[in-house]
Amino acid sequence: MNNRFIRNFIFIFCLIFSFKINSQYKPEDTEVWNPEPNIINPGKKNLPPSDAVILFDGKDFSKWKAYGKNSSVEWTINKDGSMTVFPGKGAIETKEEHGSIQLHIEWKTPKKVISSGQGRGNSGVYFQNRYEIQVLDSYKNRTYSNGQAGSIYKQYAPLVNASRPPGEWQEYDIIFMEPLYDDNGEILRVGRFTVFHNGILIQNNAQILGTTEYIGPPKTKMTNFPKKSLMIQDHGNLVSYRNIWYRKL
Ligand code: MG
Repeated sequence: MNNRFIRNFIFIFCLIFSFKINSQYKPEDTEVWNPEPNIINPGKKNLPPSDAVILFDGKDFSKWKAYGKNSSVEWTINKDGSMTVFPGKGAIETKEEHGSIQLHIEWKTPKKVISSGQGRGNSGVYFQNRYEIQVLDSYKNRTYSNGQAGSIYKQYAPLVNASRPPGEWQEYDIIFMEPLYDDNGEILRVGRFTVFHNGILIQNNAQILGTTEYIGPPKTKMTNFPKKSLMIQDHGNLVSYRNIWYRKL
């Protein structure tokens, strides 16, 4: 037997052997049918899908209250189904708490540009009262990168600046995976943010470093366990919001 014959023999043997292994399986052996994913109506053009919790649909503030108080919201509801910050009236927060969610929120900074940097169209969406995704007019308006629109405030700059001009509606789609703490306030599981700004990925599964502080590093230990509401900031600017809904994760 020459070498060539041996090589061919081994090759054919392997071919038959592998066919025999594969023939032990059928296509349906690796098909998973149950559980079937829930069927939802995805909604048209950013309107809430059928399994969403609607926080604001333009009609009223029934899901909201003044931040840190038991009084009602004093912001403005506009004829076009949006709401606008009433500077000086303070932030607003949801009456209910939330855990890990997919949030959709649309926002608009004033068309008339006044001030610059952090003073232009500043607001913010705070998850569980602690972690701010910055809302800011970042269209041709330089500020510190980890404080511009779409930043996880003073933790991560957005991957790109996907801002539209002031006066135009913009969208955030945010996946928030809540951090978990033990009874002593020590972290058990870090939280994460994934954020799309006008459909563009700007935070990719970013690990939340702690509370988003204006001054000083993020606080990692949870000391006072504030209410886990969703809060929208009054930073003194006429920022508007509309079409706010989330899905529980
Ligand atoms: Mg802000």
